[in-house]
Amino acid sequence: MLSQLRRIVQDVAQEPVLNNALAGLVTSIKQALETECCSVYLADYEQQHFMLMASDGLNPDAIGQVAIGFSEGLIGWVGQREEPINLAKAQLHPRFKVTPEVSEDHFSAFLGCPIIHHRKVLGVLTIQQAVDRIFNEDEESFLVTLAAQLASVLANAEMRQAASESSATQIQTGHLKGLPGAPGIAMGHAHILEPANDFNAISVKRSDNPDKELAHFYRAVKITKAEFNRLAERMAGHLPPDALAIFDVYHQLLDAASLGTEIEQQIADGWCAKSALKRVVEKFARKFDDMDDSYLRERGTDIRDLGQRVLNNLLDTEKRKIKLPDDVILVADNVTATMLAEIPREKLMAIVSLKGSVNSHAAIMARALDIPAVMGVDELPLRQWQGQYLIVDGYQGNVLLSPVAAICAEYRRLINEDAAINARYLEEVHLPSQSLCGVKFDLMVNSGLAVELETADLEHTDGVGLYRTEFPFIMRSRFPTEQEQTALYRKILESSPNKPVIMRTLDVGGDKALPYFNIEEENPFLGWRGIRLTLDHPEIFLVQIRAMLRANLALDNLHILLPMISDLAEVDESLRLIKQACFEVSDELSIALPRPKVGVMIEVPSIMYQLPELAQKVDFCSVGTNDLTQYLLAVDRNNPRVAGLYDAMHPAVLRALYTLAQQAKGLQFPISVCGELAADPAGVLLLAAMGYRYFSMNSSNLAKIKWLLRRIELSELELLLPEVLACSSAKLVRLHVQRFLEQKQSLNQLRA
Ligand code: PEP
Ligand code: MG
Repeated sequence: MLSQLRRIVQDVAQEPVLNNALAGLVTSIKQALETECCSVYLADYEQQHFMLMASDGLNPDAIGQVAIGFSEGLIGWVGQREEPINLAKAQLHPRFKVTPEVSEDHFSAFLGCPIIHHRKVLGVLTIQQAVDRIFNEDEESFLVTLAAQLASVLANAEMRQAASESSATQIQTGHLKGLPGAPGIAMGHAHILEPANDFNAISVKRSDNPDKELAHFYRAVKITKAEFNRLAERMAGHLPPDALAIFDVYHQLLDAASLGTEIEQQIADGWCAKSALKRVVEKFARKFDDMDDSYLRERGTDIRDLGQRVLNNLLDTEKRKIKLPDDVILVADNVTATMLAEIPREKLMAIVSLKGSVNSHAAIMARALDIPAVMGVDELPLRQWQGQYLIVDGYQGNVLLSPVAAICAEYRRLINEDAAINARYLEEVHLPSQSLCGVKFDLMVNSGLAVELETADLEHTDGVGLYRTEFPFIMRSRFPTEQEQTALYRKILESSPNKPVIMRTLDVGGDKALPYFNIEEENPFLGWRGIRLTLDHPEIFLVQIRAMLRANLALDNLHILLPMISDLAEVDESLRLIKQACFEVSDELSIALPRPKVGVMIEVPSIMYQLPELAQKVDFCSVGTNDLTQYLLAVDRNNPRVAGLYDAMHPAVLRALYTLAQQAKGLQFPISVCGELAADPAGVLLLAAMGYRYFSMNSSNLAKIKWLLRRIELSELELLLPEVLACSSAKLVRLHVQRFLEQKQSLNQLRA
């Protein structure tokens, strides 16, 4: 059952023409359930009806013609109730509506199941049979499971169809909705980067130039065969002859008489080379997967492996052919630090990531680079828009495809307005960060995630409040050596002489992966991340601390920050290792090195409740509101599906932050905030009201936050705070702060 289900969903996902996909779907379901009729109706919210889109069993002439109102008949009832309806004698049911065009008089049993995506009914899937009977539990659960899996595929089907019909001359316009990732508006040409050359990530599409596609395919096959020859030669001395025979099998499979012919045929039928390869490889691999014989089953893996190699070579050729435009909108399934580094900074205008959410590291990187980003563009095969003109609206989370001239002009006006506002913030960046009533704030910058690309000017800042050391690790193909790290850290420490530079030890795991240190986990954000990983690998931790200490010689502005601390024992162990590194470096250099100040990130809720003990052990703490929000609310910061639940303005998060501020004050324990909340105008106002005085943020936000803090009276904020803390939802909190800002004339220009 499970494999049947998977196959049906995959087939629908791969068919770019919606009507074909649905026609295939109903036939597959009818066969799988051995029933007499299967139909699918899709909702049209403008017309307020369900349209019969495909059926195997009802009158074919009714397809695309018969519509049933949202409140009509059994189909409407399934939609209204949002649950399956299973009837032995459908005609006897009071909600049954006679629709002569569909010719269903001979069917009695009816099972209808809603197709729901993100709480919205997209359609209804039905099966029918002549006998009077209730469909059994297996049939019902099959249909329910299928409908749930189909929902996200169908949600994008129309967009997919539009895309597949587009060609170089026929440009589609459209509007995609995602989540705001980094503020700002940009225009440019889509440049699609595919991370792993993965078949799953390839959405099938047609081509109108089969000769060109065929030439691509032949070229990729030629390169792949040459690779096999090289591999076979290299392995000749190491593998027994029967194992080496696999390379001959691969050669043969690629030959015209085998998979090759089939792929050529698909290309001749109008599929592009990648799509033809995917369709054939998956078809054959599945055939092998279903075989009883375990030896033959394994051949499915061979075919996939072979296909993967050809695919890599096809994509490499494509990549080489694509000339980078001067206004790149980087589009990827999951934007990574390495992808960002592939594009010269001056060409990079914006980011669109299909995965991820507002506090994914990709979005944080975009904010660090001061470029707009839209995240979580719901599984759309944006790859098909390679080279198209886009507008990215990072304020609203919108992506506009090939917009018309009037829309471009309007967005250009907004871009100019933005630039003028930013210029006004920058006019005051050299002035003190001090409120109207004289309260002083320290404003520091977060850096590191994209350090080679960042252009932070540190002159008007109070130091580096969070240097994320991950980037140099992610950008390499192995762990950086102690010398490499020392040189890099030295540069950072020198960039802010006489001001604190808070360097965080390696925080990989979660959504930050090292290409050479694979961590496969079901729950990466709750897994081997940050200090947990480095304490398990003291050699990595010690080398990093030693490099920091060496870099700090004669500068003495280094502070060390420990990420993801959830237990005091981790603090003790880290301090022991830091002490050891200090001792070693002192010994090697024959200088008595003092231990730098050490702090702990407050980002895992457990440690919030151990602040007094923590204050005894370390010198300061820094609140990471990104993770603290994720862990307090149990919402993955990277998952667009639950992005609506992720909000650092949730009253529970605010109350936790307030308690922390008060406790830290009582303990005289220095506390700062380095999460993204400090860069949010509404957030920083509330944090200031709670008593926080040290903030660290992306350099692109610093001028704005300083401008804001210079215009407030703490006493006013202190009146606002209790109202906000009493709010029942994040939405109400934002409304309160918004109203406060609106009432203050001097803050009118702020686009919070
Ligand atoms: C945080 O969690 O708030 C933080 C600053 O660290 P990161 O975003 O790198 O996890
Ligand atoms: Mg964190």
